[in-house]
Amino acid sequence: MRASRVAAGYGARVAIAESGRFGGTCVNAGCIPKKLFAYAAHYREDFEVARSFGWTVGEPRLDWNVLLANKDREIARLNGVYEDALAKAGVRILRGRAAVLDAHTVQVNGERHTARHILVATGSWPQVPGIPGRELAITSNEAFHLDKLPRRALVVGGGYIALEFASIFNGLGVQTTLAYRGARLMRGFDADLGDHVAEEMRKKGVVIRLQSNPARLDKGIQVTYADGSAQEADLVMFATGRKPNTGGLGLEAAGVKLAADGAVIVDAYSKSSVDSIHAIGDITNRLNLTPVATAQGMALAKTLFNNQPTALEHENVATAVFSDPNLATVGLSEEQARERHGKVDIYKSAFRALKHTLGWHEERTFMKLVVDTESQRVLGAHMIGPEAGEIMQGVAIAVKLGATKAQFDATIGIHPTAAEEFVTMRDKSA
Ligand code: NDP
Repeated sequence: MRASRVAAGYGARVAIAESGRFGGTCVNAGCIPKKLFAYAAHYREDFEVARSFGWTVGEPRLDWNVLLANKDREIARLNGVYEDALAKAGVRILRGRAAVLDAHTVQVNGERHTARHILVATGSWPQVPGIPGRELAITSNEAFHLDKLPRRALVVGGGYIALEFASIFNGLGVQTTLAYRGARLMRGFDADLGDHVAEEMRKKGVVIRLQSNPARLDKGIQVTYADGSAQEADLVMFATGRKPNTGGLGLEAAGVKLAADGAVIVDAYSKSSVDSIHAIGDITNRLNLTPVATAQGMALAKTLFNNQPTALEHENVATAVFSDPNLATVGLSEEQARERHGKVDIYKSAFRALKHTLGWHEERTFMKLVVDTESQRVLGAHMIGPEAGEIMQGVAIAVKLGATKAQFDATIGIHPTAAEEFVTMRDKSA
């Protein structure tokens, strides 16, 4: 959508083919409905915390159907907004599934369309391990449309979607287990984040089974793990990664090279092995985040239609996992920083936020800065705690600009906030 609109703005004649609703995964089965669910889930704790401020709260009760209906209404509104924006930009809308026939031809509903440039941005799809009984389980696609909430849920995986949905189910009152095959959640992220988020999610009631992977599912749903242990669940959800949506697009026949995982191989300008075919977003399996895909789309429109070759930088992209508590990060983990820079200074802080000091709430906020010892540049910032995503966006500007620890320290904090901790951490951790 972004590439189409920006390209049309530069004067290109653009058509877009879409077989479903506008907005892609993010709007229809990702970021937006997920965040709405995450807000809904957090109320349970908010009602409890309210008591410590003197509020008497009645017995809170969730009406799942109201939440679903309101969420669906908002998504439908967004679908309309996006479609209108495309039409207003002068983009021609072709409703149907597209297939690439050759370097300059796309077929939609049996009709052929030729173009100087073809852009493939068909996203990704949940991938489920091939264990017996896998058909008894759902993925995030279905999780947005459950008829009713289960009593007991098992979420499999240890990445973004697993943490987010385990937190959502738990917050909505479902007895929730998270089973992850590895020893630490959020592989590839700073190790402290994986440990700390597991500890906090456990405190909130999620049962986390590490080094634990279902080997089969039987009706009921009976879950048998690889180590022979078993449990029952009313709902099993796989959040075990996503695969690029390249199937049935005719790309290989048109000469487009794909990686082993099906991703379109592109250069820094999102160009595939065929000069006239480009690809952006999850289908290229670079950094699978919505704002990265839209930035890739804008860069491509500039490159092709505004005489401004633009290669997107994929460094220092901030990201948040909307688990409860939130996890957010920008830049390098301690492990990556040590590998690339050798000596690093580490600053860490864990504390109970002011909001929770009046009650019994045990949540602890965690923050960490990774600093290059030699240049004193802040290489990475990491946080777990309420609104970590909101906080990290500002920190990301400083990290992107190459700020040093001394510049962080010279920044006066906003008191009393949790975020001020990022500019007041003075003691290196051993
Ligand atoms: P992730 O790659 O984040 O996590 C996949 C998880 O599944 C990993 O823990 C992985 O384990 C595990 N896994 C993979 N294969 C198997 C298997 N065969 N059996 C058991 N476990 C397995 O993928 P998600 O599906 O959570 O999300 C897809 C992507 O979408 C994310 O990586 C992110 O880019 C994006 N996203 C972003 C969000 C945001 O910005 N807030 C929210 C949701 C998604 P291991 O680590 O051991 O490989």
